[in-house]
Amino acid sequence: MLTLQDVSKEYRSSRARTPVLAGISLSIAAGELCALTGPSGSGKSTLMNLIGLLDRPTAGEIKIDASPVQHLTSDELAAKRNQALGFVFQSFHLLPHLSALDNVALPLLYRGISLGERRKQAASVLQHVGLAQRTSHRPDELSGGQCQRVAIARALVTRPRLLLADEPTGNLDSKSAEDIMSLFLELNAELSVTSIIVTHDPSIAARCPRRIVLRDGRVFDDNRGELRSYAS
Ligand code: ATP
Ligand code: MG
Repeated sequence: MLTLQDVSKEYRSSRARTPVLAGISLSIAAGELCALTGPSGSGKSTLMNLIGLLDRPTAGEIKIDASPVQHLTSDELAAKRNQALGFVFQSFHLLPHLSALDNVALPLLYRGISLGERRKQAASVLQHVGLAQRTSHRPDELSGGQCQRVAIARALVTRPRLLLADEPTGNLDSKSAEDIMSLFLELNAELSVTSIIVTHDPSIAARCPRRIVLRDGRVFDDNRGELRSYAS
């Protein structure tokens, strides 16, 4: 469902060139749940931005559902992003003045779905993430773990093929972090959403069947990859 072939990324400004990723080759099958780990600065968020079609590689090829994405225009990339991808962030990025229900319903607004239908679909996903009793609460009336559930529901309401979460448990206490990881596992099992979760937390990574480790912008280890470099 996702293939990267020899992907590299260099940030360029007028003063400097910063090579960040080099020769990343990965293949992730539909339905896989992957942890992406590695030291701070190893390039995890940069890689997630490339996979999430928020930025373009300097070289190499990325394919989503076997279609190369590098020749797409910015508008086509945005359309692909809205159609196929869901994002979850460390700091939730919820709109503070909207209820949980309306936060989750928001991505459906751009699809021309009626208000009644948007709310119905949002309520169903909120129930799925265990928040059926909190749909009218605003983010400041919810715990951190509950806010992250709302953010996960918002990412899922468009039924993405690929869910990308960058440090989704980074702002949570360890109990809430474990609960959110359990939710990712349940959603992966029930809905078969292919998921990539960036984490610094070894106990979170250990619960993911596939674990990819970046170091200095390269794949250092991949427990299911074809190439196992260094560590084995
Ligand atoms: P962390 O675990 O701290 O989130 P990370 O693995 O996600 O780290 P990245 O954010 O991908 O790391 O950064 C990788 C490297 O790229 C770092 O050295 C960073 O300074 C550099 N970098 C990131 N964004 C830019 C940018 N826009 N311009 C220049 N350099 C950047
Ligand atoms: Mg990062």
